[in-house]
Amino acid sequence: MSDERDDWDVVVIGGGGAGLAAAVSAAESGRSVLLFESETELGGSTQLSAGLFTAAGTSVQERLGIDDSPERFFQHYMDLNRWQLEPGLIAAFCRGAGPALEWLIGLGVEIPARVSTNAHMPGLCQAGVEDVWRGHVPKDQGYGLVQALARAARTSGVEVVLNTRVQRLLQHEGRVTGVVADDIEVPARAVVVASGGFARDPQLLERYYPDALRAGDDLFVVAADGSRGDHLRLGDQVGADVTGEGWGLRLPTVYFQRLHHWQSGFPPKSRVYVNHRGRRFMDEDASYAVSGGIIDAQDGPVWAVFDERARTSLPPGYAHWNAEHVLAEAEAGRTLRADSLAELAGMAGMPADALEATVRRWNTQLPEGDDPEFLRHRTLANKGSTADPDPIDRPPFYAARLQPAELVCTHAGLAIDAKARVRDVRGDVIPGLFAAGEAGAGVLGERYVGGGNAVAGAVTVGRLAGLGAAAGS
Ligand SMILES: Cc1cc2nc3c(=O)[nH]c(=O)nc-3n(C[C@H](O)[C@H](O)[C@H](O)COP(=O)(O)OP(=O)(O)OC[C@H]3O[C@@H](n4cnc5c(N)ncnc54)[C@H](O)[C@@H]3O)c2cc1C
Repeated sequence: MSDERDDWDVVVIGGGGAGLAAAVSAAESGRSVLLFESETELGGSTQLSAGLFTAAGTSVQERLGIDDSPERFFQHYMDLNRWQLEPGLIAAFCRGAGPALEWLIGLGVEIPARVSTNAHMPGLCQAGVEDVWRGHVPKDQGYGLVQALARAARTSGVEVVLNTRVQRLLQHEGRVTGVVADDIEVPARAVVVASGGFARDPQLLERYYPDALRAGDDLFVVAADGSRGDHLRLGDQVGADVTGEGWGLRLPTVYFQRLHHWQSGFPPKSRVYVNHRGRRFMDEDASYAVSGGIIDAQDGPVWAVFDERARTSLPPGYAHWNAEHVLAEAEAGRTLRADSLAELAGMAGMPADALEATVRRWNTQLPEGDDPEFLRHRTLANKGSTADPDPIDRPPFYAARLQPAELVCTHAGLAIDAKARVRDVRGDVIPGLFAAGEAGAGVLGERYVGGGNAVAGAVTVGRLAGLGAAAGS
C-alpha cells in the first residue's frame, strides 16, 4: 500500500466479484479506492465459478429475440422464494442485474448471443426453473469475469493489497470510519464488506446454516478458501443485523463425489433417483434451483440407481464418476451392488416390488423419449441431450446414496437495504458501511434462483455498494 496518503474515500474488503465490482464502480466515480484481499490472488469463489450470470432484459436476450423484463424477473424471483425476501431489495437487484451485465460486457466480458445448453458453453442457457432463459454464460467463465474486473481495477486506479486479511472495522460516533489490517488503522470515508461467505468455517455453519451439516461426512465444500465468514465477525463489531440464516446452496451429489462436477464428473444419464419407498420423486436432472430442496423434503435416504451398462459407459478422465471408481466403491461395499433389483432394494431398505415397478415403468418411458411423470425429457432437451437413455436392465444393479452435500455458497450475511447499505439490529442504516455478494445478505434466498443467481448478486449489488460508497451516503 502506498504510504503518501493516510485516508481513502473507499476501502473494499475482499477481491471477488462483489469487491471488484464495488471497487471499480467507486473508482470510476473518481474516488480513491483501496481493496484488501486476504489471499495471494484476486478472485475468491467468483474465480472458481462458471461465471453464469442471471439477468433480464439484456442485449444478449434481445439479440436472441427473447422478450423479458426486470419486472418479470422480479415476479419469478419473489414467487420462487415464497416472498420471504425484501421486495425493495429484490426489485433493485432485478432492475440492476441487466445494466450490471452490460457494464461487464463494456469491460470486455464476452457473452455471445447464442443458445447455450450448459454452464460451460458461452451464450444464454436456462439458469433454473424460469420460463424465460436468463442464464448468461461468459467466455472463460468466472476466471474471465474476474480478469476483466481486475483489468478495470488497474486502469481505474484501484490500489489492491493482496495477502492481507482485514481484522476489524473502525467506528466513530456510529459511523464506520475505516478498517484495521496488519494491525494498522486505515481510515476511510466508506467501507464495503465483500469478503464472501462462511462455507469453510464449521462453527459458523453450525450457527447460521446447520442444514449443511446434516450431510455428515458426505459434506464437501467447493467455495474458495477465503470463505471464512469474516463478514459476520466484522458486522458483529458494529452491531450489524444478520439475515438469510438457514439458507445456502448445496448441490445433490452421491457420497463418493468429493469435487465440483467439472473434476468429479457426471452421473450416468441412465439412472433414477428413488426414495426409501422405492419410488422416483423428481426429475433427476432438475435444476439445482429446486433439486436440493426436493431431496431434503424426502423423509428418508435417497439413492441413485443404475446398472452395469451405465457404469461401463461412464467416460474416463473424471476423478469419481468413472467406471473403475464406481467398481471400487462397490467392491468396498460402500456403493450397493446386487444381481437383481429385488436384492438391491433389500440392501437399501426399500420395498422390492416398488423398486422393481419403478424401474420397469421408467424403462418404458424415458428410454422411449418420454417421462410423463417428471418431464425429464424437457430438461434433457434444454440441455441439448437428445439421445434417449438406455433402459436400466443389465445386472448387476447399483445404488449410491445421494444427498445435497456439495456446499457451494452460503446466504447468511449482513442485512442490507436496496442501496447496499448495512443495517443495524433496529433496521437503521449504519453510516459509512456497505456490503455485497455473499457478505451482504438478502438477495440470495431460501431457493437459489438458478445458476447465475450468486454471481449476478455479487456484481450487481457490488456496483450499488461501490456507487453508494463513492457518493458517501
Ligand atoms: C465451484 C463454484 C462454482 C460456482 N458457479 C457459479 C455460477 O456459475 N454462477 C453463480 O451465480 N454462482 C456460482 N457460484 C457461487 C458464486 O461464485 C459466489 O457465490 C459468488 O461469486 C461470491 O462472490 P463474492 O464476491 O461475494 O465472494 P468471493 O468471490 O468468494 O470473494 C470474496 C473475497 O474476499 C476475500 N476475503 C475474505 N475475508 C477477507 C478479509 N477479512 N480481508 C480481505 N479479504 C477477505 C476472499 O479471499 C475472497 O477472495 C459458484 C461457486 C463455486 C465455488
